[in-house]
Amino acid sequence: MVELTVKLIEIARATAAAGLSRGTAGNLSVRAPEGSGSDFLITPSGMACDTLTPEDICTVHFDGSCEGVRKPSSEWRVHRDLYATRPDAGAIVHAHPPFATSLSCLRRDIPPFHYMVARFGGHNIRCSDYATFGTQALSYAVLRAIEKRRGCLMANHGMIVAGQDLRHAFDLAIELEALCEQYWRACQLGPPVLLEPEEMAAVSDRFAGYGQP
Ligand code: 13P
Ligand code: ZN
Repeated sequence: MVELTVKLIEIARATAAAGLSRGTAGNLSVRAPEGSGSDFLITPSGMACDTLTPEDICTVHFDGSCEGVRKPSSEWRVHRDLYATRPDAGAIVHAHPPFATSLSCLRRDIPPFHYMVARFGGHNIRCSDYATFGTQALSYAVLRAIEKRRGCLMANHGMIVAGQDLRHAFDLAIELEALCEQYWRACQLGPPVLLEPEEMAAVSDRFAGYGQP
């Protein structure tokens, strides 16, 4: 658990350094190993990602009970519900970066304008319905939007991604913000030409064998 706490803080700092989280916006978590006596570790509420020390990290159980000196992130329900329903989620990054957040205010799904959209598990990246931050309603809205995907936009709020581990979740958050920037820029010049379903299906096939074995 100590190692996982250190890694969580390292990736939290990286999100700040990469401009994904600014001020106290955003939060991160990681699934705790089975038999460790808790369900996930999460960043505390209202504290900037680049100031965290191991004592600030909260240990949370699926029933909402929590250990630690700090109050857990107000979005602990979203993190809890994702771990409970998505066995493929090992770590979660939620952030309010500029391009993803701007697009989330349009409440529009990101269409297949670029092949990297398929990296998130399908032919589009959805935007959730709006709900107040920190509520169970927001968690349900996110669960719907992220179904069969590794990330989604959150209406008038930001973005969230679920990775296999902390490094993967961080990389997905960077890639989603990059895609949002590219989509925003392309839209300035006119409506982007969208990839056809069969072209996106071919990309998904390529991704199955992409990267290092
Ligand atoms: P916390 O500081 O409680 O994690 O909240 C930040 C946030 O992004 C809420 O959606
Ligand atoms: Zn937020």
